[in-house]
Amino acid sequence: MKITILVPLYNEEKNIGMLVEALDAAIKPLSDYQWEYLFINDGSRDNTLALLEQLYANRSDVSYVDLSRNFGKENAMLAGFDHAQGEAVIVMDADLQDPPQIIGQMVEKWREGYDDVYARRKDRGQESWLRKKLSLAFYRILQGSTNIDVLPNVGDFRLLDRKCIQALRQLRESGRYTKGLFTFIGFRKTAVEFDRGSRTQGHSSFNFWKLFKLAIEGITSYTTAPLRLATIMGVLVSIFAFAYMTYVFLKALFYGDPVAGYPTMMTVILFLGGVQLLTIGIIGEYLGRIFNEVKNRPVYFEREYKTHNKD
Ligand code: UDP
Ligand code: MG
Repeated sequence: MKITILVPLYNEEKNIGMLVEALDAAIKPLSDYQWEYLFINDGSRDNTLALLEQLYANRSDVSYVDLSRNFGKENAMLAGFDHAQGEAVIVMDADLQDPPQIIGQMVEKWREGYDDVYARRKDRGQESWLRKKLSLAFYRILQGSTNIDVLPNVGDFRLLDRKCIQALRQLRESGRYTKGLFTFIGFRKTAVEFDRGSRTQGHSSFNFWKLFKLAIEGITSYTTAPLRLATIMGVLVSIFAFAYMTYVFLKALFYGDPVAGYPTMMTVILFLGGVQLLTIGIIGEYLGRIFNEVKNRPVYFEREYKTHNKD
């Protein structure tokens, strides 16, 4: 039985060597299985591709896909799902933050009959305090606004049975939030725990802005709750406005109107302006997503797929 280890790479020349070494060591005790290393070069600007070519030339268990440009990790993973040959696929990062040592446990759970064995980190390594707090807040929002669980402290590091891979291949939306998709497809899930290390070499390519975009992506691709929020805000503001209108009207009727209230007026105008802009912004987020999905473009283009597998 074959298991594919799928690794998306973006500027990981410094990590590839160590990664392959660590993977070789981790799968050594698991020689009952055939293994395939499937690397996705996501438009790296460094020597990643040359190193992959070299690996491919030297080893028959290595395959790689070279994408036509950088499409982002989410899309690179889909390219991997499309090309993975194994009965199961293990998705992991190139920077060894996902420890290959627990692959054995994952495979064991898979043999027990689970389809999606995800790794849950006990701590988040050396991430900044702010990033930890923000990412927890993000999960809380996501969790609170949907009835499908998105698990905190679970990344993309997981083993997926072929059934899951086939399901994921059918989800070809362009605004991808793969973690949400893992949850969406369902199947039998279980966890394996680990300590998340820190990146060994190079820099995380996710800065604050990228993570913020991913968070918006996550929320808008997963739930329409913000639209509901806009409606609720609209209703509340309208009720308040109606009450205030009645008050102003009656007051003018019974006590006359000495024309004052500039501060009140400014407050109301600014408040309403703010609420309206926010609401338009929320609608815009969804409109933008509809625009992108409607174009229905392929999620990635590949320049080359190299494999030693015959079928
Ligand atoms: N990655 C990718 N395309 C990108 C950015 C990242 O394929 O545009 C890969 C990267 O090479 C690594 C994984 O996604 O294997 C996770 O990236 P990173 O370590 O930068 O993210 P973090 O661990 O900070 O979430
Ligand atoms: Mg990383």
